[in-house]
Amino acid sequence: MASLFPSPTSSYRGRLAPSPTGYLHVGHARTFWTAWQRARDAKGALVMRMEDLDPDRSRAEYAQAAMEDLRWLGIRWHEGPDKGGPYAPYVQSQRRPVYLAAWRQLLDGGFIYPCRCSRKDLATALSAPHESAPGKQEQQDDEPMYPGTCRPAQPAVFSASEPNGINWRFRVPDGEAIEFNDLNLGPQRFVAGRDFGDFVVWRRDDVPSYQLACVADDAAMRITEVVRGADLLKSTARQILLNRALGFANPAWFHCRLIVDQHGRRLAKRHDALSLRALRQRGLTPLNILSADLPTEM
Ligand SMILES: [Zn+2]
Repeated sequence: MASLFPSPTSSYRGRLAPSPTGYLHVGHARTFWTAWQRARDAKGALVMRMEDLDPDRSRAEYAQAAMEDLRWLGIRWHEGPDKGGPYAPYVQSQRRPVYLAAWRQLLDGGFIYPCRCSRKDLATALSAPHESAPGKQEQQDDEPMYPGTCRPAQPAVFSASEPNGINWRFRVPDGEAIEFNDLNLGPQRFVAGRDFGDFVVWRRDDVPSYQLACVADDAAMRITEVVRGADLLKSTARQILLNRALGFANPAWFHCRLIVDQHGRRLAKRHDALSLRALRQRGLTPLNILSADLPTEM
């Protein structure tokens, strides 16, 4: 494959970051293909990072299947769980020290506070208008507005040696507009405290949140451009705040439009009929999958 994907000769570093909670579907295929193309066009490096932090939903067989499906599509990467590399390990469940260091830095800087709300407390406090949205589990960007129950009146530095057993939330600067230019979707703007509230950086079940792990890894792995689905646009605003608090440089962003099913709903991993596995079994080729004219959300 050397001729198709040569060794990097530029400083561009992109990544593929599947979460192994189900089989990849045609929407993932399009996004990962875009990430691969952009890395290849930039003569850069592409990193495979397995985002398996959710202990209840992640499975080793899905991680294997994701890499196999992406290889079948024709996608290749320079660094990853199967290849090693200078920033190993490339499996998030093996990178706890990286995330703990970031958590400590946020703690010492007075950016986070402990939240003892139970899931039930939050459900009661929130109207949760998106409760029945299809594909909810799939969307990592649906963190509801936190009502502020545990937020201290003033920012404060808490002392703790370990995050164990409670949620830790990032205190967002209420009213501040977070703006960025997306390389695919153009200028974006979200207002802290209105479009999103204080978000979790460390979960009560003792794993870092998606937001924290993502920025800590993108910084540690020297990622220069993030290609991912448009469902994560609002998460990008949160991650800009985290990068600023942690002193990390922002990467560039390229968010891909989401593919929808015939009812206009976002694809989720439960859309088994549109999984790459099922399409392949039905005899479709990578070219069929990548060139089909599929409806998108925006
Ligand atoms: Zn709370």
